[in-house]
Amino acid sequence: NRRIVLASRPHGEPSPAHFRLEEGRVPSPGPGEVLLRTRYLSLDPYMRGRMSAAKSYAKPVEIGEVMVGATVSEVAASQHPEFRVGETVLASAGWQDYALSNGAGLRRLDPEAAPVTTALGILGMPGMTAYTGLLQIGRPKPGETVVVAAAAGPVGSLVGQIARLKGARAVGIAGGPEKCAYLTQELGFDAALDHRASDLAGDLARACPQGIDVYFENVGGAVFEAVLPLLNDFARVPVCGLVSGYNLTELPEGPDRTPLLMRSILTRRLHLQGFIVWDFAECEPDFIREVGGWLREGRVRHREDIVDGLENAPDAFVGLLRGANFGKLVVKVG
Ligand code: NDP
Repeated sequence: NRRIVLASRPHGEPSPAHFRLEEGRVPSPGPGEVLLRTRYLSLDPYMRGRMSAAKSYAKPVEIGEVMVGATVSEVAASQHPEFRVGETVLASAGWQDYALSNGAGLRRLDPEAAPVTTALGILGMPGMTAYTGLLQIGRPKPGETVVVAAAAGPVGSLVGQIARLKGARAVGIAGGPEKCAYLTQELGFDAALDHRASDLAGDLARACPQGIDVYFENVGGAVFEAVLPLLNDFARVPVCGLVSGYNLTELPEGPDRTPLLMRSILTRRLHLQGFIVWDFAECEPDFIREVGGWLREGRVRHREDIVDGLENAPDAFVGLLRGANFGKLVVKVG
């Protein structure tokens, strides 16, 4: 049984040296337990937060503990009345080959209904984040302009596609020409901009001649700076993630821009709302039904970036925070 534990806490950007691969025996399930064998492990930006001891909405991974993570797992042995050997489940088994579970939180997956990896992406937590954040907080109306960054990732790509289905214009921001071409040519975004280009603020203003009505915030930093002057009166900003800052070790140098932000919120009556996907847990059945339907009908599309081998998870995770992934990052474990 291979497992990847947190070896030390990063200061700034994490490196593979902050993780350690350990080998141990495969555990046996006791009464009421199942043994899960990991098939796919999801890698997500929130894991950077779990590597840090700073206070947040979830408790950190301790040094020497297995890294957390959602998995698609197979029941390898069972002493649980409700789970049979061979069944596939969505679990939180973390970065390891095998894990024991008492069954709590396991969701049975039907491999005939959809490829099982979609439960980690478009039909899982990232998809639900896009669906709830956009529809509950962003509330786009037909003809409005919706902007989203990290737009080629699992959250952003669905945000833009749902915005289009609701009759809004979708403008995506992503790193590099290949991701931008994917957004406009394959996902139907109205425009796509490269945040590494020299004049993001100018490019964005040209792409949003009517201003911005909904900005789905995934990255913060320079992208938010470019967005803020373009936000219309009564614009909605679901604050979902701030990935450009996850490796920051101190606040950026001044001048302090907080007064500008607060004045913009006041005078333009902006609505900014932070959210964590599970705040909208009651929307999950609607999400599965609606996005599942759109996926089957080909009205939304998705892309996965599959990395082979548990031992490659640390490298892949470090790359995720830099944009090395193209699509939902998943590790094929076994
Ligand atoms: P992605 O697969 O999109 O990966 C993150 C992407 O962020 C990278 O691929 C990169 O894409 C982009 N990025 C990294 N640094 C920068 C930067 N400095 N400027 C602009 N873009 C950058 O991840 P997800 O779709 O899984 O997650 C997107 C966001 O949603 C994250 O912030 C995440 O933390 C958040 N999230 C929040 C949840 C919640 O409950 N609130 C739940 C799930 C996700 P590129 O190449 O385009 O630069």
